[in-house]
Amino acid sequence: MEICAVIKRHHKNSVDILVKNGEVVVCAPYGLDEESIVKIVKGNADYCRKKIDIQQNSSNNCKSTCVFGNVSLAAEMFSCKKVLLAGVVFEVVPGDVAKTALSASKLIVNEKCFDDTIRRKKAVVSFLKEIANQCLRKEISQFGTNIALCPAAINLTKLKSAGWIRCKDMANRVVTMDYRVIQLPFELRNYLIAHVFSHFFQPGHDVEFFRVLSNYLPNFDALQTRLDAYSFLKEIE
Ligand SMILES: [Zn+2]
Repeated sequence: MEICAVIKRHHKNSVDILVKNGEVVVCAPYGLDEESIVKIVKGNADYCRKKIDIQQNSSNNCKSTCVFGNVSLAAEMFSCKKVLLAGVVFEVVPGDVAKTALSASKLIVNEKCFDDTIRRKKAVVSFLKEIANQCLRKEISQFGTNIALCPAAINLTKLKSAGWIRCKDMANRVVTMDYRVIQLPFELRNYLIAHVFSHFFQPGHDVEFFRVLSNYLPNFDALQTRLDAYSFLKEIE
């Protein structure tokens, strides 16, 4: 696949490559000749292709995994008869199991717990916490490893305030994230992780912060819009 890039000039010394809505934009210093810029883009061709693919898949997934506006599904999620996990809906069913477990498209809860709404909800919540501790923690650490910046600590908790992550006082590099993030599709989990790591460099939500974030995720606007549709998950329980 050939890559078409738009060259823009800026006053910085760095060459920044952004991929947004499937388009590559290269911001280069005024003094740098076009031949050198083309060489740099060619050197980053794999990265650009990967980004374009992710963006195209992300917009396709958005259409296919839309669970919103479905009132009965939402009601079943509020009563924990269904649960969203990594963007996929699982039916919660009773079974002869000591511990809550996943099996194909079902989440099996101990049959004695299942009939009691409070105990069923408790079983689902503790399962989500366990999976978050296993998988979400790993994803956060992996993101840190990829950019060679490890967090000092990772707290997966129930955030009472609006939002999925803690954005304040990030200079200490402690990641605080709602454990229910594990219910979101991969692209949205990745967006929230990139958002937290961007705060290690920039405390507020100013232009410079979004520049840092766009280096990790050029399509962050679209992801933020998608994320808004999942805020109902934080009202369950
Ligand atoms: Zn933030």
